[in-house]
Amino acid sequence: MTTRMTDAGPQTPMMSLSWVSLAVVVVIGIFSLLFLWLGFQSFGGENPDQGNLYIVVGTAGLAAIGYMFFRTKAISSQKPPVEKAEVVTILECPSCDLKRVRDFQRGDYVYKSDESCTRCEGTMTITGIHRKAEPKKKR
Ligand SMILES: [Zn+2]
Repeated sequence: MTTRMTDAGPQTPMMSLSWVSLAVVVVIGIFSLLFLWLGFQSFGGENPDQGNLYIVVGTAGLAAIGYMFFRTKAISSQKPPVEKAEVVTILECPSCDLKRVRDFQRGDYVYKSDESCTRCEGTMTITGIHRKAEPKKKR
């Protein structure tokens, strides 16, 4: 008997989330524009204080939209860290000090005499194994 695991992954929640936030932005936008309109309406009328309040609320709403937009943009620009375990092996020739970096290969270990030197007849020794190109933050 074969029971196959149909692993249909959950539908990406990112999509619906962005739709919800978009809807929220649109609603807030409509309301803030409405408040601004109301504010300007009553500003020229008999109620300038209330108009002031409306304008403040409307401006705050627009500011919130700007903030949200900026934030979502900032989040979306941060691409999910794809775990690229890029490991490199550093080889050094003890006789001529030639240094070489190549991709890590299975069986590599530090102080292992690996491949022959391309410059002299010596054998290159692995002096280090580490991850490739980790952006180091400098102060
Ligand atoms: Zn050499």
